[in-house]
Amino acid sequence: KEGVLIVAPANQTVEIFQGRKQQRESRMQVMKASVDKEARTANGRRVEVAANIGEVASAHTAVENGAEGIGLLRTEFLYLEDAQPPSEEKQFRIYRDIFKVMGDRPVIVRTLDIGGDKPPSYLPFPNEMNPFLGWRAIRISLDEPELFKKQIRAILRAAMGHNARIMFPMVSDLDELRRARDIVDTVKRDLALASVEFAFDVPVGIMVETPAAAVLVDVLAEASDFFSLGTNDLTQYTLAVDRGNAKVANLFQPLHPAVLRLIKQTIDAAHANGKWVGMCGELAGMTKAIPILLGFGLDEFSMNPRAIPEAKYLIGQLTDERAREIANQAMSFGTATDIEDYIKGTLALYV
Ligand code: PEP
Ligand code: MG
Repeated sequence: KEGVLIVAPANQTVEIFQGRKQQRESRMQVMKASVDKEARTANGRRVEVAANIGEVASAHTAVENGAEGIGLLRTEFLYLEDAQPPSEEKQFRIYRDIFKVMGDRPVIVRTLDIGGDKPPSYLPFPNEMNPFLGWRAIRISLDEPELFKKQIRAILRAAMGHNARIMFPMVSDLDELRRARDIVDTVKRDLALASVEFAFDVPVGIMVETPAAAVLVDVLAEASDFFSLGTNDLTQYTLAVDRGNAKVANLFQPLHPAVLRLIKQTIDAAHANGKWVGMCGELAGMTKAIPILLGFGLDEFSMNPRAIPEAKYLIGQLTDERAREIANQAMSFGTATDIEDYIKGTLALYV
């Protein structure tokens, strides 16, 4: 790892490296064994470890890596591959194929999250100075109800006999959430009137990825069945740092104390209102963040499928009490650098 070559090592050095090798191998064994097991903390609390995917092929990779569900199915790819929006039938087939691969595991389908940084040609995009602050995600869905309804119809029909949930991106207040839910109800009524088969009891939730949503979780809980923290956008909007701008990449700090406070506040408020709260932003799959998030009481960690074995392993190494201590300690620091330094030292004991 350090890129050092030791010529004619002393016996003691050989022993050290053999010890490390053995440690790594036994960790690999435990990780492999954890693929088919439910994720639990060292004291037995059940935590879900799920995958973020964007197509059918990665659903297979998710299962192979031990995903207990899909915490984020990105559907943008469907809207960006053609010069016209995807038909209801095309969407229906793709969603159904993914649900089938996942069996009875939960699958959270996020409704379209396109925007000015990746504009499809068939939508009337204005020239935007700040596309990430512009016509994006739920805002487009509410302005283009026919496009949105087609997606909801496809999801509800494909969800028959499966464990599916619907999630709206970039919600920032209760009004948006209510309007989006009303559209889901209208679609259900239309399907029922036309005697089309569909899944009726599909939970509907939102991503918490704007600071506004994080601050308003107690209010949003009235109309949201669950929450999922989107730390990529939450970090971008909280710190006013463009997530795609290399010049300010060093300022993009998901472990910034301001972001951590919003995450903790979100989890506390969701739980106080009896709601499940997961995380599908990149932070959920980072080993440096997992102990803190576990200590906050996060219910689900959703990540790149390949990060799952190690995440399950790490969760299994920590008791809730220890994770809470780590989280409290992390919260006592005033800068992201101090938090990262502290967590690096602590993690060395586990991974
Ligand atoms: C997020 O913002 O954290 C998220 C998961 O959504 P996306 O990366 O697709 O914006
Ligand atoms: Mg996002």
